[in-house]
Amino acid sequence: MSARPSEPGAKKPETNPIKRYYAKPTRKTAINAMCAYCMGCTAVEQGNGQEDHLEQGFRTFIRDCTALACPLHNFRPFQHTDSTK
Ligand code: SF4
Repeated sequence: MSARPSEPGAKKPETNPIKRYYAKPTRKTAINAMCAYCMGCTAVEQGNGQEDHLEQGFRTFIRDCTALACPLHNFRPFQHTDSTK
């Protein structure tokens, strides 16, 4: 039987959208990864000497993205906070 997320020794869910994309490549995870990359996040899986890095505040930066001409703008993640749903 596997450990539940709250139990000691349980694996934490991956929070880096780029790593999530490489673990499960779908259209949605690709968009999330691109927006995270655009805001400075990286993952070792990208190669080219990239390291795992989560830019502090990247979710807010993506939510507040003002690049209306970006083709991904309407599909970017983190557009709503819990209080705005
Ligand atoms: S929608 Fe904004 S954060 Fe996402 S890729 Fe485009 S410019 Fe970057």
